[in-house]
Amino acid sequence: MRGAVLHGPRDIRLEERGEPKIALPTDAIIRISATCVCGSDLWPYRDTPPLTQPRPMGHEYCGIVEEVGSAVRSAKRGQFVVGSFFASDNTCPNCTYGYQSSCQHKEFVGDAQAPWLRVPLADGTLVTTSEVPSAELVPSLLTTSDVFGTGWFAADAANVKPGATVVVVGDGAVGLLAVLSARQMSAARIFAMSRHEARQKLAREFGATDIVSERGDEGVARIMDLTSGIGADSVLECVGTPQSMRQAISSTRKGGYVSYVGMPHGIELKGEELFYTHVHLHGGPAPVRRYLPNLIKLVLSGKVNPGRVFDLTLPLDQVAEGYRAMDERRAIKTLLLP
Ligand SMILES: [Zn+2]
Repeated sequence: MRGAVLHGPRDIRLEERGEPKIALPTDAIIRISATCVCGSDLWPYRDTPPLTQPRPMGHEYCGIVEEVGSAVRSAKRGQFVVGSFFASDNTCPNCTYGYQSSCQHKEFVGDAQAPWLRVPLADGTLVTTSEVPSAELVPSLLTTSDVFGTGWFAADAANVKPGATVVVVGDGAVGLLAVLSARQMSAARIFAMSRHEARQKLAREFGATDIVSERGDEGVARIMDLTSGIGADSVLECVGTPQSMRQAISSTRKGGYVSYVGMPHGIELKGEELFYTHVHLHGGPAPVRRYLPNLIKLVLSGKVNPGRVFDLTLPLDQVAEGYRAMDERRAIKTLLLP
């Protein structure tokens, strides 16, 4: 089996790796229908942090169950499944509270850019569909595995309610699907912060009512203008840099909510500044498993088409071009077909 392995800065190769096997009775092996490149994959791709050894890549997946361990009850050979990037038992206290990405037995699923994948804790991790979906639904179903689930968490963690005024900071695939999620939660106004034409267009398609192209302090001033000087009820930070976090907190009204779902790099918050903002902060690695059944249902109903974030589809053996296109912002998100 040939899978994607990162060797160093901007050096990703498809190379021979052993086929995954059932290691524990709770494992499943799936044949990947589609996988993709995540915005967070670009951090190690750009050498942040530097690699100490070659690293298999990919944590977004859906596919057909090939084999299950003797203890697996929920998934059967031949079924279509989607899972999250953190395998979880879905029974421990953290899972029961809805934070499966902090499961006491969590395991990162980090080698999905490959034709086959071993999924640990299959009963707690995988969600099955009643039928094998048609090929055109697969990209949208794949998004539920991470990017849509993370956008949904961004909206949920920022307390988006019907009638709310929402700001989405970040126009990557997560930010765009955070717009879609806020729309599904009946936000009244959704400001998408973007200066990229194709992304602005998709943000509008997903439900953004306004586009704000200014950034930093100018971006904050624009949001203040547009909200009568009060700030937004819910601000969804989908980047993870000090600038984007600062912009998010400063755009929020007193008592409003900030969610942060982008992997943070270099963010430091000053206690005293935070104290006087009066905002609620809630974020972290998205507990995608909590949302999977609902998001899969939404996709299958045809009400949403989150797969629109894939503007580049490549065979897995062109994985290097898939990363390059996202790194150079020529593509929003690359779909990879094994
Ligand atoms: Zn758990």
